[in-house]
Amino acid sequence: AKQNGKNNFQVFTRELDSLMTRRSQMEQALKKALDEQQFALHYQPQVNLASGEVIGYEALLRWQSPYGNVPPSEFIPIAEETGLIVPIGEWALRQACRDAKEFRALGHAAENISVNVSARQFKDPDFSEKVRAIFEQESADPRRFEIEITESVMLDIERSARIICELKALGLRIAIDDFGAGYSSLNVVKNVEIDTLKIDKSLIDEVLINRRNLFILAAIIEVGKNLDARIVIEGIELEEQAELLQPFGIVGQGYLFSRPLPPGSLDAFLSEPDYN
Ligand code: C2E
Ligand code: CA
Ligand code: CA
Ligand code: CA
Repeated sequence: AKQNGKNNFQVFTRELDSLMTRRSQMEQALKKALDEQQFALHYQPQVNLASGEVIGYEALLRWQSPYGNVPPSEFIPIAEETGLIVPIGEWALRQACRDAKEFRALGHAAENISVNVSARQFKDPDFSEKVRAIFEQESADPRRFEIEITESVMLDIERSARIICELKALGLRIAIDDFGAGYSSLNVVKNVEIDTLKIDKSLIDEVLINRRNLFILAAIIEVGKNLDARIVIEGIELEEQAELLQPFGIVGQGYLFSRPLPPGSLDAFLSEPDYN
């Protein structure tokens, strides 16, 4: 292994090099993407597991770049590092307001639309004022919307707690995303009044590996209920998982019910649900 050390290093730097090139290319492309309207929001239904009723949708960003579709796992981190997530995030919120109107025109009153907001957007002290302006300009009702944040927002607890209060005062709900996946999940719910806990996919996956893990999931659900929060389990893929969770009286989201869909396709999903 030792005699290969130098070669390995060369391979490594070459790979790093092309990685860097790819990143800076992507950064350039991302800058153009907003102007050239390459972004779209797709919507994934949130389903009441007991009744099968759709209670809302999560808006998920899609980038149809000239090089093909780039998944959020690739471009969101770069958008966050470069700060481009700030204008992209504003675009997403505005677009969700517009899509919500289209849903209503199609005849279903989307009770809840969840929009993801990056910790980077929370660094802007005027964030809530910007949000207020967007809802006013789009004449959208904030009470139909939820803001999804991850616990990384809470690294700056004082500033974040203030922004969360301001957003709630506008009528928006607050969801903690990826709950149970991090280290300090309980810290988040201790410090602010949240409306929804979104339990990370890894927790339901672990239940299939070992049934005993259902006790952990049940305990987390209990915490959420004591906080008066709505519970959403993410990443339900199997009927078996949905059945296990049915007695808890919670909400589920996952490929079992539907993949995220463009707003125009939701109508078809609603009239012909592929579950139950
Ligand atoms: P997230 O907020 O945790 O969103 C859930 C992700 O899980 C989505 O991936 C969704 O398509 C995927 N998913 C849903 N059901 C299933 C399932 O049954 N199985 C599996 N394997 N996956 C499922 P997506 O759309 O690729 O987004 C990835 C992440 O990118 C999101 O994770 C979120 O952190 C970020 N993201 C997406 N849109 C936005 C946005 O508008 N703003 C910000 N700041 N971040 C966003
Ligand atoms: Ca989310
Ligand atoms: Ca999540
Ligand atoms: Ca996630």
